[in-house]
Amino acid sequence: EAKAQGRGRYIHYRRELAARIEARTALVEDIHRALAEDEFRLAYQPLFTPTGYIVGFETLIRWQHPHKGWIPPLDFIPLAEETGWIGEIGDWVLETACRQCLDWWRQGAAPFRLALNVSVRQLQSGYAAALLTRLRRWGFPPARLELEVTESLLMDSDSQALEELALLREERVTVAMDDFGTGHSSLAQLKRMPIDRLKIDRSFVRDIPADRNDEIIVRTIVAMGHALGLEIVAEGVETEVQRDFLVREGCDLLQGYFFSRPLAPEAAAALLK
Ligand code: C2E
Ligand code: MG
Ligand code: MG
Ligand code: MG
Repeated sequence: EAKAQGRGRYIHYRRELAARIEARTALVEDIHRALAEDEFRLAYQPLFTPTGYIVGFETLIRWQHPHKGWIPPLDFIPLAEETGWIGEIGDWVLETACRQCLDWWRQGAAPFRLALNVSVRQLQSGYAAALLTRLRRWGFPPARLELEVTESLLMDSDSQALEELALLREERVTVAMDDFGTGHSSLAQLKRMPIDRLKIDRSFVRDIPADRNDEIIVRTIVAMGHALGLEIVAEGVETEVQRDFLVREGCDLLQGYFFSRPLAPEAAAALLK
């Protein structure tokens, strides 16, 4: 009896595993097709100074799937990282976003900084040189570009990835450490990182003002970051109370639904006017 039950469970488990593997394989094939069929889209979320000026936009990828509708990045970026497709996706994001911004500037929009999310997986030998060559070809000033790399990935990455970031910073590209506070950087590591900015993870902003601990964490990150000469960006700002707190604590830039959701290109263009 017990043995039969165990076996039933085993078969059930095997079926589930097979279904999961099949779904993954299908998604990988889908990513390949999506690139060919041009199904990816970009959303642009503005970054604000404490006094309310837009000084940048962060590019966020979306997938308009023909059958499944909109797919958020966290449902396919990790798989793209694992399978290596992130390289091609990243190249597409870079070119599409840079050309879009150049268009806006040509049409008279005031200059701002364009931020892109980059996976550590992309930062292989030659990445910096290839990126700079492409920027030069398009006439996109490197000083207007910012790369966001998540803290956890950056901390685990090899020295090559850090070297690529350092090369880009020499050409005045800005580097931000994204989702800061969720990884486990030590002060010693942080001091050596080739970065300009820390983006405080949304999870520490979400429960302000209810959670006193989060307020203390934010205060500590701002003090530590500023002491290391880094700019502090608060993401996920959803309320006025949060905005007021973060400004009071000295955050240099703010981003979140309170200011603006990520916008389709047309809406971002309208905002720039
Ligand atoms: P992230 O870079 O930390 O981006 C912030 C995420 O928070 C975005 O989710 C954004 O839509 C969302 N967000 C912004 N403001 C608020 C707010 O006030 N409240 C709440 N609840 N959420 C807010 P999204 O677009 O789903 O992106 C998720 C993650 O996917 C990003 O996190 C980034 O790590 C990754 N990602 C997005 N686009 C790309 C890309 O082109 N390449 C790579 N490698 N990763 C990307
Ligand atoms: Mg980001
Ligand atoms: Mg973030
Ligand atoms: Mg995040």
